[in-house]
Amino acid sequence: MNEPGIEGGELTRMAVLALIGQRGPTSRAVMGRELDLSSATVSQVTKWLIERGVLEPLDFEPSIGGRPAQLLGLVATAGHAVGVKVAADHLTIVDVRLDGQVVNARNEAFDVMAPDAVVCLARSLRSFIDTSESPLLGIGVGVPGIVTRPDVGTVDAAVLNWVDMPIGRQLRKELDTPILVENDVKALAIAERLYGRGRTRRNFVVITIGRGVGFASVADGVLRRGASGGAGEIAHAVLNGTGPVCACGSRGCLEAYIGAEGLVTAGRVAGVLRGREGLDHLVEAADKGNGEASAVFSRAAQRLARAVATTIAALDPEVILVAGEGTASWRHWDGPFRSTLARHLPVSMRELPVEVDSWEDTSWARGAAAIVLATPFDRNALAGRQRSHVLARLHGSRDGIDDELG
Ligand SMILES: [Zn+2]
Repeated sequence: MNEPGIEGGELTRMAVLALIGQRGPTSRAVMGRELDLSSATVSQVTKWLIERGVLEPLDFEPSIGGRPAQLLGLVATAGHAVGVKVAADHLTIVDVRLDGQVVNARNEAFDVMAPDAVVCLARSLRSFIDTSESPLLGIGVGVPGIVTRPDVGTVDAAVLNWVDMPIGRQLRKELDTPILVENDVKALAIAERLYGRGRTRRNFVVITIGRGVGFASVADGVLRRGASGGAGEIAHAVLNGTGPVCACGSRGCLEAYIGAEGLVTAGRVAGVLRGREGLDHLVEAADKGNGEASAVFSRAAQRLARAVATTIAALDPEVILVAGEGTASWRHWDGPFRSTLARHLPVSMRELPVEVDSWEDTSWARGAAAIVLATPFDRNALAGRQRSHVLARLHGSRDGIDDELG
């Protein structure tokens, strides 16, 4: 699919898309300047992308003297991606446009322990795809676990009871669609970079609280994945080897203390929760001014701050973004988190902003879709051969899906 001549080829098209993805609508002159391309090349590449419905001419940019420059923007409907968040007992599936807007969403029961769980997952995705809009660029799968390579998609996830589970390979075989699989918190960081508060920042970290605890970082514009996809796994760093048992099998992990289950246990020990009362009751009690309930959140927030402080000092981000279903009770975390973090950071970082995202039920699944939607704009994404399949679909052609492993 590459045209003769490297300048007008796929790499140049990707660079143009990446620039527009990052800046929003952009004039041809700015593309030439920023990407160091001749005006002939810019015209050739943009003409090609306009003809295929990926870019569209927009308003004219006011200019001082000379001709006003026309801005080119992405066509939001030029591509869709399906994202699925896999949890042990349910799936959330969404259809997302190129501009990040969720146009369709579905929640379904799912039993990860069923012997044919992956076949069930494929069946749910197939029936959802039938209702989703085209062109479908691919499917992103977000999992609460470790994925060594998104384009291969082999998953280790203790909470799903998956060890070396070849999800990517099996779904490609069942669905004949580009499939990218990623840790759900990393996927969320990609969505932040593409559509959210990370859009204008090259260095930021994402912390998620909720059922589990998550951490991901974007450094100099690139999502850090680490040697084996495990970068950011602070949830299972052990704080106390004789502490409570964690879902991962270890004792005393950060998540065992401050994940939803850990908070409920602390609420029981503090005498705030009785019988089957859960996290909702704990939040309600704290809202009503129950000091013991507030202290549970306060201790959790302090633990979280101490656990991330050294890592944050090592990364020097512009902002900390807090997300996850647990942000519904962030008001009880906020003060103790900020003050503890400030005490543990170097003086130069003590004013580091902490911003909390508005959270939706579909946010995890939208993150999963963003893995696919970021592919045309992100040269650093580990998308392997899935990238060419996604790009082929964006440019209006389809090819057979080959598996990354052969
Ligand atoms: Zn653990």
